[in-house]
Amino acid sequence: MTEVGQDLICALCGEPIVPRDPGDRPYTGDAGTAYEGKPICDTCYDEDTCEPAATIYYGGDHDEPHLIGSCRNETEGDFRVKWHSTDPWRGYYECESGEYVEVFTDAILSGHESEEMLKKLYDRVLERFEEEDIGFARVFCRSSNVFMTSLEIWVKRDFVQLLKAHAIIAQAKGEVDYDNPLYSTGILFPRENLEKFKDLLGKKYNITTDKDLADLAAEKGNDLLAELVEAAKGGVNEG
Ligand SMILES: [Zn+2]
Repeated sequence: MTEVGQDLICALCGEPIVPRDPGDRPYTGDAGTAYEGKPICDTCYDEDTCEPAATIYYGGDHDEPHLIGSCRNETEGDFRVKWHSTDPWRGYYECESGEYVEVFTDAILSGHESEEMLKKLYDRVLERFEEEDIGFARVFCRSSNVFMTSLEIWVKRDFVQLLKAHAIIAQAKGEVDYDNPLYSTGILFPRENLEKFKDLLGKKYNITTDKDLADLAAEKGNDLLAELVEAAKGGVNEG
């Protein structure tokens, strides 16, 4: 593409792109970004990674994050981002990769009991991956919920490395008591409310975690409300 001119518009800010020197080609969005191949002005390109969609660290290295913004991709195509909107104002970014496979993902909830446990799990897994020479990347994707950061570990697409990675993660989960319901409650509902739901409907449904209750509510819809009212009446009569 040699198309350069006054009428070329930046796909990000909508301003005309003025070449510094005649014949200069404008930037275009990098592969794997939302603005892939579209013309981008110098300012937008330079400032793009101020609020990255994804931050990638290769291996245990803490110093050199590789960022993916709207039009810049510093992973040279190893990772691509996709925006998933959950409503017009909310959503989250998700990474895709041909080179790496996601082996672990969870959300860090600021202030929740699981925060500490997840950090322990994460540190343990990284340590073991380095010992076993597993090629991995840590990926942090941005979401519109400021209290939540996704935590992802990706491993080079290699059969043996992947199996080793899964075995290490399974072992580390046991070490930190990952499946303790403490870590999967108190997220969507206050814990005492979940306990009340269990008292009323626990005989009929298997409700252990917040997600169990959310799934049940999604499946039953208004029927669940009716059942709840009935169960509450029964409770009053018994008492
Ligand atoms: Zn611009």
